[in-house]
Formats: sequence, C-alpha cells, structure tokens
Amino acid sequence: MRRILWALVAVAVAVVAVGTLALRSPRVQDAIVARIARREIGRDMSGLLAPDALRVLLCGTSSPIPSSRRAEACTAVFAGRRMWIVDTGPGSWRTLALRRVRGEAIGAVFYTHLHSDHIGELGEFNLQTWVAGRPGPLRVYGPDGVTDLVHGFAQAYAADTRFRVAHHGAELLPPDRAAMIPIPVLLDGADAARVLDEDGVVVSAFAVAHDPVKPAFGYRFDYGGRSVVVSGDTRPCPNLVKQARGADVLVHEAQENRLVHIMEQAARESGESRVAKILGDIPAYHTTPADSAREAVEAGVRLLVLTHFTPPPDNVLLARIFRREVNEVPPHGLVLGEDGTLIVLPTGSDAVRVTRLDP
Ligand SMILES: [Zn+2]
Ligand SMILES: [Zn+2]
Repeated sequence: MRRILWALVAVAVAVVAVGTLALRSPRVQDAIVARIARREIGRDMSGLLAPDALRVLLCGTSSPIPSSRRAEACTAVFAGRRMWIVDTGPGSWRTLALRRVRGEAIGAVFYTHLHSDHIGELGEFNLQTWVAGRPGPLRVYGPDGVTDLVHGFAQAYAADTRFRVAHHGAELLPPDRAAMIPIPVLLDGADAARVLDEDGVVVSAFAVAHDPVKPAFGYRFDYGGRSVVVSGDTRPCPNLVKQARGADVLVHEAQENRLVHIMEQAARESGESRVAKILGDIPAYHTTPADSAREAVEAGVRLLVLTHFTPPPDNVLLARIFRREVNEVPPHGLVLGEDGTLIVLPTGSDAVRVTRLDP
C-alpha cells in the first residue's frame, strides 16, 4: 500500500515537473495560445440572433455609483436577426465585446434620456460595430438633443475614423458606413409612439417621469408575440404601467432609498458635503424595488428584472436589502440583474428562461 502511495506521489511530481518544463518551451506556449485563440475568435455567438426567440441581455446594470463588475446603463434586445441597444452607458461596449456579440448585427440605438450614465459610450458602439462590418450607417433614436449628441460623438471620433480607413483600406471600412443618423423621437403630447416596425420587430417609445430630465422615455419591444419593456430612468409612473401591460418582461431601474439615505449620512459625517447633497437629491426621481414590483404586478408582466442599481447590490447583504420591502412579485418572480443576465422568450410559447452569458 505504501509503495503504491509513493509511486503515485512520484508520478504526480513527474507530471508537474514535465508540465512546468513544457510551459517554458516557446513551441508549447504558442500551441496553447493558438488553441485558445481559435476557440475564442471562432466562438459562434450567432445563436443570440436566431429568429426563434426574443432575447434580452443586460450589458450594463449600474448607475453612476460605480461597480467593479458592472457597466452603466445598457440593455441589448435581440430580435428579427438584429441587436437593438437601449442606452450605451460607460463600459457597456466592453461587456458586449467580452461576450463576443456580433457587432455588425446592430439595428439601432435607442436613448431613454441624455444623462451621461446612458450615453457615454456611443462613440465606441458606432466605431466598433462599423469595424465589425455593419452594412450601413447607425440609426440613433432619442429625445430632443439626440442630433447634437450624434454630431458631437461623430466629431470626436472623426480623426480615428480617418486613421482606420487609411490603415485598413476603404474597401474593408467604407467611410460612409461609419456615419450615424440621429432620429429624434417626438411624442407630440401622446403617451406613446411607434418608432420602428421592421422584420417583425415593433419598437414603441413612451413617456416616463424623470424630471427635471424632460422628455425621458421607456421603450417597448414586441416580436413574435413576445415583449419586453425597458423603463429607462423614472420615478413610479402610471404611463409605464399602462405601456407595460401584458408584457412578458419588465426591465426596470432600481434605487434602494434606505441605502441611499445611509450613504448620504455617511458622506455628511465624513465631510463630503457635495456627495451628501447629490445623494439627497436623487430619491425623488428614481423607483424603489418595492414600487417597481408593485407596478410590475399591476401591469401583469410575467417577470421583473431590476437594473440601473443605486447603489449596485454587489454582495449578499446589499442584495437582501434590495428585496427587503418587496412583497408581491410577478409569476416568474423578480431578478436582480447582473451584467450578462440573459432572458430568453421563445416565440410561440409562454416560456420565460433566465440564464447567463459569461465572457
Ligand atoms: Zn441613469
Ligand atoms: Zn437619469
């Protein structure tokens, strides 16, 4: 028995020694890296775009309060073989790039409003999807001001666009496709308006309440009998309940005011009066988890997914506090969203699948 044990130890030591020596060999190093590169670069993510379901991928779930594991506001909807983006918060392109989504499949960007935590990465979304082979200019929908936003980002990235065309050639990177087309969304006093109807995908914008930010929108996507509503930033809002009626999924912003209050106190006691003032201003124009759950139940949605967290619930304790006052939830429950949360709604069915897409 002892002899067998010694033999096993000797084999283990030999394996480790050979492995360590092999890793010093350039040929072995190159072979390992080539294998990983083939696997990563060849990773087929086209399944996200398959027409058999409406899919929702959270690509940014934080608010301006930073989190090491979350980008700021971004929701990707996959429908009709295209990727539709609601908001492009700082860090959100990276979240999608790490998951190797097909950038060239982008259909349009829809802005809920023009706060920096929602718009910061438009330049990267435009540039990277163009480099990936987008077949035309990028359409950018949004409230009043979206035209200035688009022109500003285009100007900021103009030199980079020229450099890339000079480097890789206009055949690979046609300069005209690098353009963005701003499309202002005008409700003209209506509660909601259809802004896109294409390949079976219908997108409607509706007014939400984020004063003094006016107008501010939420968006509803309908495809193949399935639907998802993205709230944007809003305090509790009857029009959101109306527009979300009967939707499968409500992706709603969430602010836990008890935590915001604790942070405000801590800031005041630390002499951080500017931080305390800002934290004191924000409770009035966001929605608590309890209120969003009430609205989700009232609207009759199947699943509530929280996002745009203030503050981000990055540990068990904070996650528990976020659920503390939630009483009633929709039939498929309440999910505290994370970057990479993926919801799949197969067409021609009532199924709601919540899963993850990791890098
Ligand atoms: Zn925001
Ligand atoms: Zn906002």
